[in-house]
Amino acid sequence: MSKRLVVAVDGPSGSGKSSTARGVAQRLSLAYLDTGAMYRAMTWALLQAGIDLDDPAAIATAAQGVRLESGTDPSDPTIRANGADVADPIRSDEVTASVSQVAAVPEVREMLVALQRATIAENEHRIVVEGRDIGSTVAPNAEVKIYLVADPAARAARRAAEDGAADAAATELALARRDKIDSTRAASPLAKAPDAVVVDSTYLTLDEVIEAIVEIVGDVA
Ligand code: C5P
Repeated sequence: MSKRLVVAVDGPSGSGKSSTARGVAQRLSLAYLDTGAMYRAMTWALLQAGIDLDDPAAIATAAQGVRLESGTDPSDPTIRANGADVADPIRSDEVTASVSQVAAVPEVREMLVALQRATIAENEHRIVVEGRDIGSTVAPNAEVKIYLVADPAARAARRAAEDGAADAAATELALARRDKIDSTRAASPLAKAPDAVVVDSTYLTLDEVIEAIVEIVGDVA
């Protein structure tokens, strides 16, 4: 059996985590888990069910009835909620605007963290996992922890280009709002684990960021 290699990639919204984490997983023949997609899929399911997202108790109860499945092939990651393929709808503005509210509910986090740990174990601890609390909470024993950052304006420009949005300033405000909720919530907030290596992607291309992380993995693991 191959050696354990859990690579935790955390950081704020728009720092390039998803493309980077997928690329690293492909380069190192590891599985890949996008935990943000899980919080988004949960939010999509709760919106579909008409749950009042201003009511944390209602969210906590309804979340128990939602079944999430994540496919961990980095060349074709998938996400299903209650059997439906939700890869596209979870990127809608409606989900993006509400996801941090859902992710702040402790019962939701408890449930998804348990699912994430199960997925890591199913993949024999050979996986790149990206999110906000992977190095600090989900996989504190990860062999490698990366904290990916980028200048806010660069993050907004990148995210606006991805979404086809014309207004990078509005995107920057929306990202700042989400970061604030994510870093100030009581339950496992966005945080750099003390032993995480900070990688700044502001002036690097995607390939350069992937290369930098592959090198860090080579040094540490
Ligand atoms: O990574 P992405 O932007 O898709 O994540 C969407 C949201 O899911 C984040 O803004 C955050 O509220 C939540 N999230 C989280 N913990 C994670 C991953 C995502 O709270 N590990």
